[in-house]
Amino acid sequence: MKRFLMLLASMFCSSSSASEGTLCLTFDDRYFENWEKMIPLFKKYDARVTFFVFQQLDDKSIASMKALQSAGHTIGLHGQNHLRASDYLQQHGPMTYLKNEIMPQLEICRKNGIKIRAFAYPFSQRSSETDKELFTVFDFLRTNCTDVKKKEMKLAEADGCFVKKVGRKQLFYGFPASGNFNMEEVKTAIKRAAEDNAVLVFYAHDITENQVPSHHISISQLEELLKYAKSLKISICGLNEL
Ligand SMILES: [Zn+2]
Repeated sequence: MKRFLMLLASMFCSSSSASEGTLCLTFDDRYFENWEKMIPLFKKYDARVTFFVFQQLDDKSIASMKALQSAGHTIGLHGQNHLRASDYLQQHGPMTYLKNEIMPQLEICRKNGIKIRAFAYPFSQRSSETDKELFTVFDFLRTNCTDVKKKEMKLAEADGCFVKKVGRKQLFYGFPASGNFNMEEVKTAIKRAAEDNAVLVFYAHDITENQVPSHHISISQLEELLKYAKSLKISICGLNEL
């Protein structure tokens, strides 16, 4: 009887999680101070997110990355020098690209117990050749959605942004939830991800009320998104959890 009830419970859990979809919020560069301040807000909405970090990693950055990881968030890499991957690879070849741009950050993370599975392209500049090289090191890559979404298209209509089955190696086309983005357009897309049980990825940089929003998201915009996502029961998680 007990085994039957456990089986029933597991069937119920898997069917409910299968229909929820996944929202991946990602934040780029190195706004550690403001990112760390958001830990309680993410916790309030059961949300884990991804932080893509660039530049040489010093002790202060490592401490922040550890704090974010301890709070359940994913740390990903964004390049030692924030270089355009495709240009650099063409000029210097794949070995030099990996050696100079990827390995220095990766080695420091490994030494410090920071689990890395994902990379976000600086300036979203990529090619199939850079994907191939980076997939030897990472499981997930993130670029922007210009290859799969025409300018006049609403995000909810851009099929390429919705990943129904995450591959062992997966490229995600993210949409900017930054600047003066259209909140309704973004919410409609999140609803589609929930209904289709798909993964949908957004990106921004800093999280603050004080910055001109161009590449950033304000705390109030972020909270509105989190609140809406939670109301749909879509899972909000980091790329390491996929
Ligand atoms: Zn960047």
